[in-house]
Amino acid sequence: MDDTTASEAAQSPVGASKPASAPAVPPGPAVPPAPRTDRTRIRRHADRAVPDRIEEFLLSGTVAHVAMVENGEPRLIPFLYHYETGHIYLHGSPGNATLRTLRDGRSVAIAVTQLVELIASKTAADHSANYRSVVAFGRGRQIVDVAEKRRVLDAMTVRYFPGRTTPADYAPATDDDLVRMELTDVEIDEASAKMRDGGPMGPHDSDPEFPGSAFIQPV
Ligand SMILES: Cc1cc2nc3c(=O)[nH]c(=O)nc-3n(C[C@H](O)[C@H](O)[C@H](O)COP(=O)(O)OP(=O)(O)OC[C@H]3O[C@@H](n4cnc5c(N)ncnc54)[C@H](O)[C@@H]3O)c2cc1C
Repeated sequence: MDDTTASEAAQSPVGASKPASAPAVPPGPAVPPAPRTDRTRIRRHADRAVPDRIEEFLLSGTVAHVAMVENGEPRLIPFLYHYETGHIYLHGSPGNATLRTLRDGRSVAIAVTQLVELIASKTAADHSANYRSVVAFGRGRQIVDVAEKRRVLDAMTVRYFPGRTTPADYAPATDDDLVRMELTDVEIDEASAKMRDGGPMGPHDSDPEFPGSAFIQPV
């Protein structure tokens, strides 16, 4: 895959690292996420960094992979999610281990990846993919207010199912449903976005004399 074999391009850090032990803070004003420290500096293929598209990718993505450390072990779980300026919302049952763990405000990393096309090359090392991805870092906060839960759940449902309305298409959540639902607001501390676009880029892909085939394959 060319994203892992190409030489690293240089890019300067944009700020100092925040200590890992920083305490959880109450939600601040909604701020669009941006790269801020060395942990969100894209080193490999820095030319593919697209920080101005972080929000666009978060608004159009469908699956968030949520990662944290628990008892010294990595933990990674896929979720549906909702995004609003600077905040990723995750929901689940009250027994959801991941969301319960995030209640303590520990650091969490979230990846949202969209695979757009696969790229076949005439050389093995140059097979690749067109993608759009965001990696965000933040801390979770449990939401208990039923009105806020309803607002976020309604917005999330409309995002995944545009055009469906209550009560024509589905019954709204009851207050009991919402009390039982665990909802976590991850305020994004910083994020990065990266994408690959274009066709085969191997050294022989545009050479008609070189054997093999090179093409873009939809997914
Ligand atoms: C695309 C997608 C979207 C999802 N969206 C949501 C959502 O919005 N809300 C929600 O509550 N759940 C969602 N799920 C299910 C979610 O991934 C978890 O399985 C579930 O939330 C339980 O989480 P937990 O932290 O309690 O896991 P636990 O059951 O405590 O996890 C224990 C272990 O089970 C394994 N495991 C757990 N989940 C998965 C999995 N999905 N695939 C493979 N192994 C797993 C892992 O090894 C994990 O360490 C989604 C799953 C997928 C694939």
